[in-house]
Amino acid sequence: MQDNLVKTVIRLNNVTYQYPQGESLHFADLEVPSGQHTLILGDSGSGKTTLLHILSGLLKPTTGMVDIDGQPLYELPARKLDEFRGQRIGLIFQEAHLVKSLTIKENMQIAQGFAGAKVDNTRINEVLALLNLDHKADSYPNKLSRGQMQRAAIARAVINKPAILVADEPTASLDDRNTESVLNLLLTQADQQGATLVIATHDKRVKNRITRAYEMATRPALSNK
Ligand code: ADP
Ligand code: MG
Repeated sequence: MQDNLVKTVIRLNNVTYQYPQGESLHFADLEVPSGQHTLILGDSGSGKTTLLHILSGLLKPTTGMVDIDGQPLYELPARKLDEFRGQRIGLIFQEAHLVKSLTIKENMQIAQGFAGAKVDNTRINEVLALLNLDHKADSYPNKLSRGQMQRAAIARAVINKPAILVADEPTASLDDRNTESVLNLLLTQADQQGATLVIATHDKRVKNRITRAYEMATRPALSNK
């Protein structure tokens, strides 16, 4: 039964994924109430990144159902799914770079465009200011430091006020001080923008800050032998 006041933002039912000629992964069911930031924990190779891609509408599961913010994700036609992702899902993947030929501000504008929204420069200025990047609005990504790049990726992910904010090992290569500041930013942004965080990690420093966890199955259970 669902509480009327607390929405379920993620629901995963009987989801499996079979890589062609590869591993068969089975994911335990998951239900995340709005605002309950959740860690995805598991060893390397256990399927965390695969799961995040499935939750983000980037990888259609072989079986099962994925609901995000009340929408059965894979019932949407491709174009609608792209638009839904742009509106409701903020992605922070390690490889997801900003478009290099566009300024930081222009990158935010195309993120609004992908979501089918009008360009809203007031919103862009507000988010860049929150992330202490207002002075970089007209800079190109290659002029930013690493920390600024990471903040720009977060800015892009939250620009459309997503329901869920998905991050893949966001602190893996950071020292303690930067880990602390990225976690603070993610938590503050999620709370201010009303997003629920989903973070794949095995970083103890993250576990200290977010206690709700979803554990990946251990290797033997995943074996397709
Ligand atoms: P994690 O993020 O937890 O390290 P992944 O989701 O990346 O795990 O990978 C889960 C399993 O799926 C691993 O055994 C990996 O080798 C396999 N896998 C990942 N991507 C592919 C792919 N594109 N093709 C075939 N197998 C893959
Ligand atoms: Mg991974």
